[in-house]
Amino acid sequence: MQNTPILPPAMLGILGGGQLGRMFAVAAKTMGYRVTVLDPDPNAPAAEFADRHLCAPFDDETALSELAQCAAVTTEFENVNADAMHFLAQHTRVSPSGDCVAVAQNRIQEKAWIQKAGLQTAPYQAVCKPEDIGEASAALLPGILKTATLGYDGKGQIRVKTPAELKAAFAELGGVACVLEKMVDLRGEISVVVCRLNSENVQTFDPAENIHENGILAYSIVPARLSADIQQQARQMARRLADELDYVGVLAVEMFVVGDTHELVVNEIAPRPHNSGHHTIDACAANQFQQQVRLMCGLPPADTRLLSACCMANILSDVWGANGEEPNWLPLQNHPAAHLHQYGKKAARKGRKMGHFTVLAADADAAFESAKMLHGSL
Ligand code: ATP
Ligand code: MG
Repeated sequence: MQNTPILPPAMLGILGGGQLGRMFAVAAKTMGYRVTVLDPDPNAPAAEFADRHLCAPFDDETALSELAQCAAVTTEFENVNADAMHFLAQHTRVSPSGDCVAVAQNRIQEKAWIQKAGLQTAPYQAVCKPEDIGEASAALLPGILKTATLGYDGKGQIRVKTPAELKAAFAELGGVACVLEKMVDLRGEISVVVCRLNSENVQTFDPAENIHENGILAYSIVPARLSADIQQQARQMARRLADELDYVGVLAVEMFVVGDTHELVVNEIAPRPHNSGHHTIDACAANQFQQQVRLMCGLPPADTRLLSACCMANILSDVWGANGEEPNWLPLQNHPAAHLHQYGKKAARKGRKMGHFTVLAADADAAFESAKMLHGSL
């Protein structure tokens, strides 16, 4: 059964109805598939494009049974309950597998696993109880203490310089399992999105160069401004991780570019399309969401070729006025090579990802300059 391609108008299911689920639904619907979304939020961004919105908690048995009726099921986030994944896998095709998702849920397992695959991580140590803080930890200072689970956009992290600060940080994070990572000499951050059906059918997108502001991704520039050799290495490393996991679907691999030699160190993986891959919608032959649809349906990945240099910029709720006034969309909408994508969310919370735009240009520098200017005009 795993090998028979699933064709339109089959019903596809997705756990999670945020912006990633929304862009997945757009891709699937465009190809003529039908879409069922499971998400407890009545205003879930994906619901607008789905045929069916199961508005229930992610562990709701009735909703999961309904989702299990789909021809195939995927996920838009990694913090899915393993039991839910296993239940679904008993009834329908699930990709990526629950085991792959589980690796990405816990930084301790994730780092151990990356090293087992023969790739580098920042030097680290698991800190699960106060007694774990000792001589080994001192060698990792200055470092960053990160909660092992549920961190995103730089949340659940504290930078520490001394053993005393480390002890205080561990207590402040609630005494939950953490990893202490040594601060690396960061020269840049990149990510590679891999699309894998099986060992013969694997494609990688060009690495994206990621610029963060306040711990949140602000810009992704493609092609990354790194040597062709380093870019090739990054693609090979991402592919190696996907192969080691026997991964089926779209996998994002975040890497640090370290030191003068631009050594690549794996930071973390995400078992799904990634924010740094949103430019693929407007600048690549096939985008990461079309790939997600194809792979869950047992179809080989399509062409990942970059058709134009570009820069993606996130649009956070901060650019809305204090009373919810819309940003000034005119310069962006007037620009002939800018593509606006909004997620249909209310600008209620600060720092919320409301949308993004991608601007195409002659080269990476020009794209980044245009994106900064257009973002400033909002
Ligand atoms: P996101 O959701 O954006 O992926 P996150 O909460 O998963 O973020 P990380 O990606 O682990 O957190 O770290 C957030 C940022 O902190 C990184 O993008 C990087 O800029 C910085 N950082 C993390 N670990 C290190 C390190 N070992 N050395 C230097 N900088 C680091
Ligand atoms: Mg990260």
